[in-house]
Amino acid sequence: QDLFQSPDYYQLDDLLSEEHKMVRAAVRDYIKTEISPIIDKHCQQATFPSKIIKGLGNLGCFGPTIPAEYGGGGLDYISYGLMMQELERGDSGIRSTASVQGSLVMLPIYKYGTEEQKQKYLPQLARGEMMGCFGLTEPDFGSNPAGMLTYFEEDGDDILLTGAKMWISNAPFADIAIVWAKNETGKVQGIIVERGMEGFTSPETKDKWSLRASATGELVFDNVRIPKSNILPGAKGLGTALSCLSSARFGIAWGAIGAAMDCYDTALRYAKERVQFERPIAGFQLTQKKLAEMITEITKAQLMNWRLAVLMNEGKASAEQISMAKRNACITAIQIARESRQILGAMGISGEYSIMRHMMNLESVITYEGTHEVHLLITGMDITGMNAFK
Ligand code: FAD
Repeated sequence: QDLFQSPDYYQLDDLLSEEHKMVRAAVRDYIKTEISPIIDKHCQQATFPSKIIKGLGNLGCFGPTIPAEYGGGGLDYISYGLMMQELERGDSGIRSTASVQGSLVMLPIYKYGTEEQKQKYLPQLARGEMMGCFGLTEPDFGSNPAGMLTYFEEDGDDILLTGAKMWISNAPFADIAIVWAKNETGKVQGIIVERGMEGFTSPETKDKWSLRASATGELVFDNVRIPKSNILPGAKGLGTALSCLSSARFGIAWGAIGAAMDCYDTALRYAKERVQFERPIAGFQLTQKKLAEMITEITKAQLMNWRLAVLMNEGKASAEQISMAKRNACITAIQIARESRQILGAMGISGEYSIMRHMMNLESVITYEGTHEVHLLITGMDITGMNAFK
């Protein structure tokens, strides 16, 4: 049974509009009724719960900030953040599916596509009638995507795409892939590759211990013939790919704290009920230290996320500010998951509770969309003006 009580120590709810609260309530309710009852089984069996796609589309979780004329929600960044927070409270894999679809598939088409491409893909993607994935990472180029080897050549009205992407969320079932590849002059461009194009395959990556309810795979392109009309004309240069990552990272900052809130809430309730040495373990100072530090860190991260959303709404947030929030949320959530698991003792490793699942998921969340180290170097470069990457 899902007993989640959302922690709000600094009364941040006072800063939310009625619309924000309605959006949050709708997603929270959906998680309670549709996700929590099935998610442990899907993680244990490493299967993606594909039947939820329609529900996520109906809830507006795909492309919440995309204008309504293209099927998006036309919502602000606080609503978007709250949606991601609630989805990841359910499971990071569910939030990942929504992040990829909205920020990494719909957003590049919306920002860099032609009017025809927008009309063709966005409404279907928003409803979940079509699913997408985002191929940037390659076997030999993760943190340094500029080195990518995937390339294309022009051939009349078509291009021929060759290369391979790895660790791609939603790849095994996606209908389209936004693929980043180098043109003949070495410049990175974004291309829409469609399922069924000859020479394009997407084998599933098996045996993951993290994000088990999310389907991850490779994208393999063996001289795939693609019409030039599938090139995103505005997506030129790696910076365009990275700008979509900024939107997804914003969602991760809120999402990871959703997972942390769930761990804290579970541990707090358990500690009040679990009796050892004839008293609830919540009465021991060592348990209180864990819980008090958790709620302090959650509150700090909630404030950071909220302020970041306001800056996003005003068009003033920098990529570096987003990096800081993503990094902070991921490390905070991982530490809270570990401490929460300790509080539950042996029960902490059981699928009966969500904590161990969150803890394993967060190991991916802290790595994808820029690792913990990469985001630290982004902050370092921003404050010193010196590039420590190379
Ligand atoms: P590497 O880049 O090889 O890094 C290994 C280690 O070295 C890390 O700790 C890193 O921080 C460190 N390191 C690297 N460079 C430096 C440096 N300059 N200074 C200090 N330390 C450094 N990618 C996509 O394109 N699309 C997706 O949908 C997607 N989904 C994913 C889903 C999952 C479950 C996972 C696990 C990954 C996914 N990724 C996706 C890939 C992800 O973005 C990469 O794994 C990530 O960018 C890191 O790349 P890497 O794994 O190659 O690690």
